[in-house]
Amino acid sequence: MKLLFYAAKVYDKKSFEPVNESFPDIEIEYIEPELDALTAELAHGYDGVCAFVSADVGAETLEVLHKCDVKYVLMRCAGFNNVDTEKAKELGIIVKRVPGYSPESVAELAMGLALAVNRRLYKAYNKVRENDYTLKGLRGVNFFEKTAGIVGTGKIGAAMARICRGFGMKVIAYDVYQNDSLKDFVEYVSFDELLERSDLISLHCPLMDNTYHLINIETIKKMKDDVILVNTSRGALVDTNGLIEGIRLNKFLGVGLDVYEEETGNVYEDRSDEIMEHSVTARLLSFPNVLITSHQGFYTKEALEAIAETTLQNMLDAKAGVVNGNDVT
Ligand code: NAD
Repeated sequence: MKLLFYAAKVYDKKSFEPVNESFPDIEIEYIEPELDALTAELAHGYDGVCAFVSADVGAETLEVLHKCDVKYVLMRCAGFNNVDTEKAKELGIIVKRVPGYSPESVAELAMGLALAVNRRLYKAYNKVRENDYTLKGLRGVNFFEKTAGIVGTGKIGAAMARICRGFGMKVIAYDVYQNDSLKDFVEYVSFDELLERSDLISLHCPLMDNTYHLINIETIKKMKDDVILVNTSRGALVDTNGLIEGIRLNKFLGVGLDVYEEETGNVYEDRSDEIMEHSVTARLLSFPNVLITSHQGFYTKEALEAIAETTLQNMLDAKAGVVNGNDVT
């Protein structure tokens, strides 16, 4: 079976090649271009394509893949909001993903962002390097005995809830389903109550129609003053313009984002020589209490190995017609 691996980075090859040895029936070709309607043409002669969150797996791309006789789309990530699932179903293309490779990899980054913005670690790092040993601008708060509000208590949200408990925080959560494994220490509340009570709000729900711009100026106004907001889930959960307005209203002690609305086009690219003409992200970065990382939540050794293993197993299962719980279509 032949798999065309789009947007391949050095670390992708490093994690997939050793795992591929245990899947001798799968032959992988790694290419640099991102999957979109134009590059989908390259998939002629391949049974499947492997794509990431930054790919455009919309209707047009899927039509081209279908014409190339591609039968499987293997997403090497959890989220699939960039896939037109209805179109894939209509064309009979099987799409599978990696729903839970290493929830701790993302949850630990979420707590890392929360700590970094709270204690301004990015500022402290630069200050000391410049021989500035003053404490100006570095005062934070204790997390101990504060309230953490987790939005979405699936695999990653649950891991974040456990980490927050480890810090001695009171953990409250909002989800459309309750996670029984958390019932000993998590109190489920309404979304509004979570906004009103939390000192730290961490987003871990998927991006869907009803979660698009879940955090906007109206919901921000319901939050406590000096709240910390962390988003490691999907950029469009947060309305960037609303966030900027909220920051200007001094609502936030800190904001840590591993994902943001404008990330497509930036993710894993070096654009340091470019002038961003219309970037709201640049405005966000101008605030001293905002820290942005570029979608690195999944980027640990353990997570990469698990992603490779599950993606290749997904291909075998797709070929065998096995529904394995990782199915998007
Ligand atoms: P999951 O499916 O295990 O959990 C998602 C949870 O969100 C579920 O409990 C679900 O019931 C809940 N949910 C659904 N709709 C909701 C709503 N309207 N309000 C509140 N909760 C709702 O997913 P997961 O593995 O925990 O991943 C969470 C998200 O993290 C993914 O959707 C993905 O976008 C993101 N993610 C980011 C990275 C990264 O590198 N930053 C890596 C992996 C995943």
